[in-house]
Amino acid sequence: MRTIGLIGGMSWESSIEYYRIINEAVREKLGGLHSAPLVMHSVEFEEIRALQDGGDWAELTDIMTDAARGLKWAGADFILICTNTMHIMADDVQRRAGIEVLHIADATGEGIKSAGLKKVGLLGTKFTMEKDFYTGRLRDKFGIEAIVPEEAERQEVHDIIFKELCAGIISPESKGRLMKIMAGLTSRGAQGIVLGCTEIPLIIGQGDADVPVFDTTRIHALAAVRKAMA
Ligand code: GLU
Repeated sequence: MRTIGLIGGMSWESSIEYYRIINEAVREKLGGLHSAPLVMHSVEFEEIRALQDGGDWAELTDIMTDAARGLKWAGADFILICTNTMHIMADDVQRRAGIEVLHIADATGEGIKSAGLKKVGLLGTKFTMEKDFYTGRLRDKFGIEAIVPEEAERQEVHDIIFKELCAGIISPESKGRLMKIMAGLTSRGAQGIVLGCTEIPLIIGQGDADVPVFDTTRIHALAAVRKAMA
């Protein structure tokens, strides 16, 4: 099995899900005490969040690249960045660190495509919903149209992610708000919903929507297992 490198801690609330899902999948496939060879670099998230808020993507790219280099040195065969948002710099990290980054939007795009859907709603941080790196990749590589909530709702989703989910707070009110926002996206024609933030699956699951939901944490982690075992 190949060794998976994880850049985590963004937030650690979702990184532990990656760790669990990857190891459970390996045990399910191989049985016994089999588990996944992996190395993790976990960041100080308050520092990352401050740089995100300040729009210092160049510094963040340096930090992600250094983490990827360290993981490569520690034996990783390929890298997962355990957040949708920080795929803003995924291609730069791959090129500069000289190690493959398994892109979360590619794994998600494959999942949407095999479900036969063409138009989905996207929930994530404001960066993920508003910049082109995610919706553009789904469009250009997979022919999938991703629509996002209107501005006030985008802010609301962003705040739920950073003020609650990343801080380990799961609130029934916020769950209700997210369900309402998802319903708004389906009424605009979304045939599925991408949970495009690795913490959203902590509060929203398939039972909370009338259309298929795409849990990017799980999709990304399982894609890594397939790759490690190929
Ligand atoms: N984990 C979140 C994501 O998937 C947000 C944290 C971050 O800003 O990296 O986008």
